[in-house]
Amino acid sequence: MNAYPRINIHLDTITDNTKNMVSVCANHNVKPAGVTKLACALPEVANAILAGGITLLADSRLSNLRKIKHLRAQTLLLRLPALSEVEEVVEFADISLNSELVTLQALSKAAQAQGKRHQVIVMHDLGDLREGGFFAEETLALCREATHLPGIELVGLGTNLACYGGVEPSSSNQSQLVALARQVEADNQLTLQYVSGASSAGLGLMMRSELPEGVNQLRLGASLLMGIGLNDDPVPHTRQDTFQLEAEIIEIKVKPSVP
Ligand SMILES: *Cc1c(COP(=O)(O)O)cnc(C)c1O
Repeated sequence: MNAYPRINIHLDTITDNTKNMVSVCANHNVKPAGVTKLACALPEVANAILAGGITLLADSRLSNLRKIKHLRAQTLLLRLPALSEVEEVVEFADISLNSELVTLQALSKAAQAQGKRHQVIVMHDLGDLREGGFFAEETLALCREATHLPGIELVGLGTNLACYGGVEPSSSNQSQLVALARQVEADNQLTLQYVSGASSAGLGLMMRSELPEGVNQLRLGASLLMGIGLNDDPVPHTRQDTFQLEAEIIEIKVKPSVP
């Protein structure tokens, strides 16, 4: 189609970026989730990510998750559910990020009504001031409650960094997360499937082999789709020329900048 302006998306490059990140992550025992919100979960883009070897797709909007529900992938809602939308959360997301007991209780009811088991990753705040409790005791108590709710399965512990407060992922804050995850496991006699440490902003730490053992998930969006990570710097082993804006020039004239 000759409609301008338009964005050409190089899906093969997104697949290559994903393949490379999946393989670099595997060297560090990390299995990335593929974040689709940068492209509003356009199914073609989601498929390009899946073709690169990712099995879990993550997005911050339910309307986006709805668009990719038909794809063969697990889905993760990348933010805290609102109480008014727990039914849709259970319908469109296999996993969600959580920090409030009332929300977990509502998700539990919705999951039971739909005959499903909804998986939850409990979030802990390591200083970025986004979601989750600050105190270990608070997070441990919430995890304990989560394991007792029917229809709910506690599958992980996570944290968000380099987002609201600009606190970078570090070996120190990532180690705190791993230690807390081990405590949750001991406390509840279970094994957590996910210790979800950071976004693309954590790739540098991982590539320098400074990501502590035990962090096994990074949530990757910008690195797969645009080849960038912390501070929007290029990520090694990725290409940045994935999206190309194309427009027609309708006038070429040289003019002074002041009227
Ligand atoms: C958007 C988002 C990500 C992905 O961040 P990128 O910088 O695009 O990799 C990870 N985690 C959460 C919670 C997000 O909202």
